[in-house]
This record gives sequence, structure tokens and C-alpha cells, in this order.
Amino acid sequence: MASTKTQNQVCETEECLNAAKLQCPTCIKLGVQSSFFCSQECFKGSWDVHKKVHKKAKEIKAKKEEAKSVFNAVVSDPFFNYHYTGLMRPWYPLSPKREVPCHIIRPDYGTHPQGISRTEREVRGSTQIKVLAPEEIEGMRVACRLGREVLDIAARMIRPGVTTDAIDSVVHEACVERNCYPSPLNYYNFPKSCCTSVNEVICHGIPDQRPLLDGDIINVDITVYHGGFHGDLNETFFVGKVDEASKKLVRVAYESLMHAIAEVKPGTRYRDLGNVIQKHTQMHGFSVVRSYCGHGIHRLFHTAPNVPHYAKNKAIGVMKSGHVFTIEPMISEGTWQDETWPDLWTAVTKDGRRSAQFEHTLLVTDIGCDILTRRPDADGLPHFLTQS
Ligand SMILES: [Zn+2]
Ligand SMILES: [Zn+2]
Repeated sequence: MASTKTQNQVCETEECLNAAKLQCPTCIKLGVQSSFFCSQECFKGSWDVHKKVHKKAKEIKAKKEEAKSVFNAVVSDPFFNYHYTGLMRPWYPLSPKREVPCHIIRPDYGTHPQGISRTEREVRGSTQIKVLAPEEIEGMRVACRLGREVLDIAARMIRPGVTTDAIDSVVHEACVERNCYPSPLNYYNFPKSCCTSVNEVICHGIPDQRPLLDGDIINVDITVYHGGFHGDLNETFFVGKVDEASKKLVRVAYESLMHAIAEVKPGTRYRDLGNVIQKHTQMHGFSVVRSYCGHGIHRLFHTAPNVPHYAKNKAIGVMKSGHVFTIEPMISEGTWQDETWPDLWTAVTKDGRRSAQFEHTLLVTDIGCDILTRRPDADGLPHFLTQS
């Protein structure tokens, strides 16, 4: 029995009205507030009744502990035992699935339970590159312009404190307002309407509850589906004040994309783009991610040609007027190697160092190419170069 300073307590023993200053030590340990006795005798005499208080308190405590451990495992780290390569973590729970109004036309995978695209599967393995008809090119111009509008809206939100889920919400609404289906949504069951890839996340980051922090870099990758065509682009942004090393990484990633675009014209081999990108990247001491490539895009989200960004690749195909494809180099500070989180999407660098990316959708023309996802203002410059 412990003596306490508490005054005006009455003994817990039934029919004993004595003042009580002695508190049960087990109750103190369990954090039970009101169990006072006037004497050792009353305490012993009430033991059979009083011990039930301990049992109840222990049950409540165990339930709280369990809830806490479930919260820690599920909410702050859903991937039990996964060894993270850097500081990024998933911030669950993800927000509920966003709905697309039924008047908006969906790609075939939009309603498939596993998000499989039958039309993509039908031509899987084929290296034949589609030459688009004039009306198809017009369709691509419109989809790419709308995709650009959506990315520019997302760009204006980038600041410390904004969650990637909030960006996804605005992207989703901007797509719907433009009669676009957000292409990533349900594509092989991807859960969100865009990809948000922060710091060491290379690509395919899932928007979640993590707020952007001052000094982060974030890539937002937008694809919209409109009038039967996909338009695909991405940019990397600075969040608040970013260190010089990250600024250089982002700049080199952008330059490597633009150097590759300068090679796009009829007769250029798709495999040669990687040489240009890797040369520029290596010159600045960075590396080129190899697991993810540019791709043909039109009525299908991802199709031939495959466009690797690394040197000495074996990509098939020669550019022809009417081809449409993306170039989207992912450039890393350290190793080129990647691994994927247990969410089966988030690609991160193996060494946890940062990675940056830029993407455009390009149309091969008779004399060179049109950047279909070019920014209409700011001389087409990306936001990180025009951010104040
Ligand atoms: Zn993209
Ligand atoms: Zn792409």
C-alpha cells in the first residue's frame, strides 16, 4: 500500500466510511485512479472484490497496446520487415478510390478487375510501330494538350505541407473537368490518377498522405485519355529550397531529355537515343535507370517502340513520320539500379539516393519532331526553371 497526498478519499470497502489515504500499488501501476483504503485490514478484506478491478484494467491496457501495434504496423509501415533503401516511407491509409463519372469514356483496362488492357496484350511482343493517320495525329494533339494543362495545374500546388494525395485529387478533378480519364487509374490496378515520385522514388510512386517537405524533389507524371488517345508527360519540381546537388540532378535530367529530343527525326534509330542520354548524364557524374523505358503511345498507353534511355541498348525500330512515342529518362545521383516496394509499384534507387525524370510525348514529322506535350507559355521551359 502506498501513501499518497490525495485528500478527501473514502475507503473502498463497502460499509466503511473512514477517510482513506492508502492506494493499492497494483492500481497505481495500472493507472487506475480511484482505489483507496483506510487500512491494510480493509484492503485485505476487500481483496476478492477489489482484484476484479485489476483484471478489468489489464484487459483494457492489452487492448490499447494491441491497437497501438496494429496502428504502427499498418498505418506508419504497411510493409512489415521490408528494408527501405532511403528515408521515404509509404503514408497509409490511401484515400478511397476516386470515381470517374460514367459520361467519360474509359480505356479498356478501366473496368477490368485486374486492370488488364486486352488491346495492349493483343499486340504484345510485336515490334511494329504504328504510323498515325492525320485524324489520329489530331486526336493525339488534343490529348497531349489536355495532359499539359493538368500537369500545369499540379505544378501550381507544389509547396511544403501539401500531400501527394491532395495533388492526386486536384489532378483527378482537372481530368474529369476536361472530359479526360486519368490513364493511370486502375491500369494493372494502379490505385491513383497520377504518379508522384519523391526523392529516391524513381517512378510510379503512389499518391498518399505524406506531406511534401522543404527540400524535397517531386516528379508528377500525368497521362490523360481523351477521344480514344493517351497523352503522357512528366516534370520534376523543387519543393521549397532545394540543395545544389539536387538542383544539378534535376537540371541534368531535363537536359538529357532535350538532347535526345534533338535527335528525333525520320531515319534515327530508336536505340541511338540512349547513347545521347547516357553520355550527357555520365559527363555530370550521374547514372541512367535501366528498368523503365520510353514507349509508343496513341490508342494504347504503352506499346511499340520500346525506348531505353541507356547506351548500347538493342531497341528495335527506325523513326518514321507519323510515329508517336515518349522519351522519359530517369537519372540517378548514385547507382542506376532500382528495386520495387512491396506495393508492387513504387520504384526506388537501390542506394536510397535521389532520382529525377522528365517526359514528353513526341510526334515524328517530315523534318524532325513536334513536342506534343510542350508547355504553351514560358517558351516551353519546365516549371523548375521558371519557379520563383
Ligand atoms: Zn508518364
Ligand atoms: Zn510514359
